[in-house]
Amino acid sequence: MKKITREMKKLKIFFKENFNIKKLTSFKIGGKVELFVKVKSISELLNVLKIIKKYNKKWLVLGNMTNVLISDKKIRKVIIVLDGIFKEIFIKDERVLYAGGATKISELTDFFIKNNIGGMEFMAGIPGTLGGAIFMNAGAFGENIGNHIKNIYTITPGLKYKIIPNNGKIFGYRESVFQNNRYIIIGTDIYYKKEKRCIIKKQINKILQLRQKKHPYEYPSAGSFFKNSKEYSAGKLIEKAGLKGFKTGKAEISQKHANFIINKGGAKFSDVIKLSNLIKSKVYEKFKIKLKEEVRKII
Ligand SMILES: Cc1cc2nc3c(=O)[nH]c(=O)nc-3n(C[C@H](O)[C@H](O)[C@H](O)COP(=O)(O)OP(=O)(O)OC[C@H]3O[C@@H](n4cnc5c(N)ncnc54)[C@H](O)[C@@H]3O)c2cc1C
Repeated sequence: MKKITREMKKLKIFFKENFNIKKLTSFKIGGKVELFVKVKSISELLNVLKIIKKYNKKWLVLGNMTNVLISDKKIRKVIIVLDGIFKEIFIKDERVLYAGGATKISELTDFFIKNNIGGMEFMAGIPGTLGGAIFMNAGAFGENIGNHIKNIYTITPGLKYKIIPNNGKIFGYRESVFQNNRYIIIGTDIYYKKEKRCIIKKQINKILQLRQKKHPYEYPSAGSFFKNSKEYSAGKLIEKAGLKGFKTGKAEISQKHANFIINKGGAKFSDVIKLSNLIKSKVYEKFKIKLKEEVRKII
């Protein structure tokens, strides 16, 4: 690691060794990361990837860490977070705008309000970044971000710049091709339409209120733990299996929304894993349905 950090220091790249990642995650769970790096430009990103490859280290790009459950054992990886130029947002023409992969959904929503852009109010309140949202094909209220994307700008693991057009085949329910190819999402072109500001604001407020009512925001979590499907709502199945309020250590199945595993203070990675295994086995026992995790485990 010394050789890696020496090279990064020379290039003035921001890094922290043995960085405790817990406080950055929405779940407030996670251990020490061998190396945590923030990159502000494409050249910094490419330089970091070159150094990591040279020394054969494992790496992972993270966004706002709102859909991850990170192990509390040492993470022997370089965690890369995008910043700086990757937060840019601008209007390209009368149909398309560009936003960088590190843009927070809340920043995007503010931009929509400021620029009278409608049609994507359903994203309001999702606490991640655009990169994470594309990777997960995030969405709510029957809509998802994939339906609004024109192109995705990426860096491949082979360090090539590649534009991926949205050909209708790259997104599924909480799925995208990026879950299999390790491309880094650096930016996207988003289709937009003009709308009256008062209508956008009203719609966003309505959505934020609905979320506040449905979701247990009072406790750390990673949002919905299991994926829904066309046939079922994971939350309803967990509720019908009588699991609301079940606990393992300090991890608990929320009373407010059964698909949320909440951290009641000091929950461990293993508490959440045990609880999610219990949910899977009870739901299978009762309904013969195999729930699939939406939250990404990082070990
Ligand atoms: C209270 C709460 C409510 C939520 N509500 C919703 C909801 O309504 N709908 C919904 O869909 N989700 C919801 N989520 C989950 C989460 O916010 C979304 O999935 C979000 O899009 C994840 O973005 P992120 O930046 O936090 O990604 P992270 O959690 O940091 O990462 C998630 C995955 O994306 C990958 N990734 C992140 N950035 C990049 C990138 N630039 N390039 C390549 N890969 C990348 C990571 O490697 C990781 O595998 C909620 C979460 C919380 C805590």
